Amino acid sequence: MQTVFSSVLSPQHVFPDHPESPSRFDLLTPRLDSFGAQRLTVMPASKDEIARVHHPRLIASLNEICKQGPAVIDHAPTFVTRTSFDDALLAAGGTLACSRAVLTGAARNAFALIRPPGHHAEPERAMGFCIFNNAAIAARDALAMGEGYPSVKRIAIVDYDAHHGNGTQAVFRNDERVAYLSTHQWGIYPGTGWFEEEPQAKKRIVNVPLPSAAGDEAYQRIADEIFSPFIQLFKPELIIVSAGFDAHWSDPITSLGLSTAGFLMLSKKLVDLAEEHCGGKIVFVLEGGYDPANLANGAAAVFFALNGSGKGPNASDPAPDLEPDVSELIEEVRSWHGFT
Ligand SMILES: [Zn+2]
Repeated sequence: MQTVFSSVLSPQHVFPDHPESPSRFDLLTPRLDSFGAQRLTVMPASKDEIARVHHPRLIASLNEICKQGPAVIDHAPTFVTRTSFDDALLAAGGTLACSRAVLTGAARNAFALIRPPGHHAEPERAMGFCIFNNAAIAARDALAMGEGYPSVKRIAIVDYDAHHGNGTQAVFRNDERVAYLSTHQWGIYPGTGWFEEEPQAKKRIVNVPLPSAAGDEAYQRIADEIFSPFIQLFKPELIIVSAGFDAHWSDPITSLGLSTAGFLMLSKKLVDLAEEHCGGKIVFVLEGGYDPANLANGAAAVFFALNGSGKGPNASDPAPDLEPDVSELIEEVRSWHGFT
């Protein structure tokens, strides 16, 4: 069994001077054949598949708004064009192609390289450059019964995008089949993700709000001291990773401090946890990341973690800033959740 991927570029989902653009893939696309992974054919998700996460009212209204042509639909700003509705269906479909390949055993693991991204999209609201919540749609699909492939009962979503995945958290707030862990920069968009904000879901919804410049060493400790107990205690049968590469220190819109080596460490840790706890079933789903070089290097790191083939990300880009001490934060988060 091998690693598979989908690539959904959505070239017409584009808006003047917007960071979430097809050019994010400019340095990634030429490298896709070098990652030792097989490309999947992608079909659009159906409206019923989207409706496992999003309210039919939102789906209908987005379809109508897109028909009217380019528009800004929130202050992030989130934009749509005439093709955005179909592009978002294809992005969700590209994610489903990956998760289904892993669940059926056709592939060992997978990476959905898709846009528009998804983790800010809430059940009744598209926001934060996101239309439909791709990772959440894949999770609900995997939980669905009787559709010709084995279902799973427990899924963990780990989100290392620099922003809090408010949408994913909102979808699964009261769904005990899915656990959600997010590392994100505190104090930036969308403003959610404080570690005490979901007290009804201790151990299951875990937020790690980071200071700016938190880098490879901080993330290494978080991977060991928070990711590990989170997965060990929840016991998922599938791990979905919301992989955003905007946590790189040189991202133009955030200021966390990861390097490419840090993304490799995080991705490898999650692959190792999947090997240990879920028979290796892990699906990475692209979220943000607004520097094309960081996106290509970060994706290379994920593929190297998934299949160990090729030369790896082959990038040396250590962060220039000193890291803050995150010991107190880690202790607070561990103690709030009872990770002892
Ligand atoms: Zn982000």
